[in-house]
Amino acid sequence: MTEATTVRPSGLHRTAPSIHYQVAMPQPESHLFEVTLFVKGWQTPVLDLKLPVWTPGSYLVREYAKHLQDFSADTGDQRHRLLARKISKNHWQIETANTSEITVRYRVFANELSVRTNHLDATHGYFNGAALFFFIPGWEHQPIRVTLVPPKPDWHVTTPLLSLPGEANTFEAANFDTLVDSPFEIGSQQLYNFQVLGKPHQLAIWGQGNADPEQIIEDTKKIIEVEAELYGGLPYDRYLFLLHLSSNGFGGLEHKNSCSLNFSRFGFRVKEKYNRFLQLVAHEFFHLWNVKRIRPKALERFDYENENYTTSLWFCEGTTSYYDLVIPFRAQIYDANAFLEGMSKEITQLQTIPGRKVQPLSESSFDAWIKLYRRDANSNNSQISYYLKGEMVSFLLDLLIRAQHENQRSLDDVMRQMWQRFGIQEIGFTPQQLRDVIESVAQTDLSDFFDRYIDGTDELPFDEYLEPFGLRLSSIKSGEPVPHLGVNVNADNGKTMIQFVEAASPAAVAGVDAGDELLAINGWRVTAEQLSDRLKDYKVGDTIQVSVFHQDELCTLPIILGAPRPSRYQIVLVEKPCNTQRQNLTGWLGTGLKVEG
Ligand SMILES: [Zn+2]
Repeated sequence: MTEATTVRPSGLHRTAPSIHYQVAMPQPESHLFEVTLFVKGWQTPVLDLKLPVWTPGSYLVREYAKHLQDFSADTGDQRHRLLARKISKNHWQIETANTSEITVRYRVFANELSVRTNHLDATHGYFNGAALFFFIPGWEHQPIRVTLVPPKPDWHVTTPLLSLPGEANTFEAANFDTLVDSPFEIGSQQLYNFQVLGKPHQLAIWGQGNADPEQIIEDTKKIIEVEAELYGGLPYDRYLFLLHLSSNGFGGLEHKNSCSLNFSRFGFRVKEKYNRFLQLVAHEFFHLWNVKRIRPKALERFDYENENYTTSLWFCEGTTSYYDLVIPFRAQIYDANAFLEGMSKEITQLQTIPGRKVQPLSESSFDAWIKLYRRDANSNNSQISYYLKGEMVSFLLDLLIRAQHENQRSLDDVMRQMWQRFGIQEIGFTPQQLRDVIESVAQTDLSDFFDRYIDGTDELPFDEYLEPFGLRLSSIKSGEPVPHLGVNVNADNGKTMIQFVEAASPAAVAGVDAGDELLAINGWRVTAEQLSDRLKDYKVGDTIQVSVFHQDELCTLPIILGAPRPSRYQIVLVEKPCNTQRQNLTGWLGTGLKVEG
């Protein structure tokens, strides 16, 4: 928090105000939440209210205040209005006229269905504290009560917060951080209760589709057990999985005692898609340790008004992404072949993004606030995701530690040490402390590793780290080779639009621009669908004439085609693994691997 918000209002021995929010939604189809804030026991002439500009877990300033309207303040009697003014985009100030009871009324437009925003329609309501509730600077540590007023008799409320006995639909958060960390769902969501390791868990599902709750619970139990075993127990009293089924949704947001998940409603039948769902579950659940409790110093105390810069998101998100592939394998949801297949796909993705050679991983983390969530046509040329590369770096670290210690140690020991040293007490870690823990587990100086792969942009040496396990990375050129042009295209209303031009590719060198409309090769029309096939008619080094509309102007550009690129990468067994390699591989992934070169 900023200085101004940590210092309590001037004056000694002031008694704390009571803070109570009421959230009504009399016309849910209008997408408007009607919020009333009751402050009692207020003792100073002004009351400041601030709305967060972001929510933890999603590192982008979202300006939640843009959805707020109809703000007013009164003494509890609407005829006695109090003077209120805006100080900044998210800051309101009320002159209290020495009244100790202040009622604030406002409405919030909620029509963005994502795990990090608010959504209200005729079927349900969902909100995140950061996007709906003000904090009172200086009083963030006060408990906050929230009462929901359902618009229909059959609507019920689901939230990780404890309800207050004897008060309908009323819940209490110990402080503002907890309120922000506790999403609310109101509607006719389906509820399923289950126990894992003696603790109550709940799955709440909004929306229809082909999800099989029994199967989801069975697999989720296995995931919970594997993660609990890794960290040595479950650090909560109860846990809620809140699942939204939507047409093409995908996303999750982690909380200490819950997570919000958004997944495509018919994405549960096909095994590969369902595995992707379980990886999402494993990912958000892993976060209850890594990032919710094991936090970088910069996120130890949230500043809700500003960017919270850290170079460690590669560990918070990337390492969690690595484990979201590992955990279902350990839970026997899929086998080692599927695990390596998944890793291979991610490696393929990394190796096709030119930005990996431009942006260091630590910088990708630091600049999350302005880059990762704000992609444009140049993003892939200039950036690399800290999820994707962080996952790969975590993979290499796991291999490095395992190879050094014959599988007697692994990245699991790093996670456990981080939990013991920082997570349990919720003490923020510095990048140096993180590195110290990894080095102490590996018993190796990792200066070179960090310089090259985390703070630098050297290519990740997969083969070097796979070799002790008798594995290598194979680049595969399947089918007839396609000479390299360096563009991604899509069909848009009958037009073939160039979405992306790879930096330094033949197309980029010739002057093709993202946003151009592709028309013809050597004078003959070409569509998005035909492009790859048409390029096969030429050889590496041939010059083709590519016609495009650039800003409405017809241009024909000569382009010299380059050498074909691998279509994918695959982790495969080396031809004749020695005994040590066999032992290492078995110690890591067990037996039964089928991957061949
Ligand atoms: Zn995550």
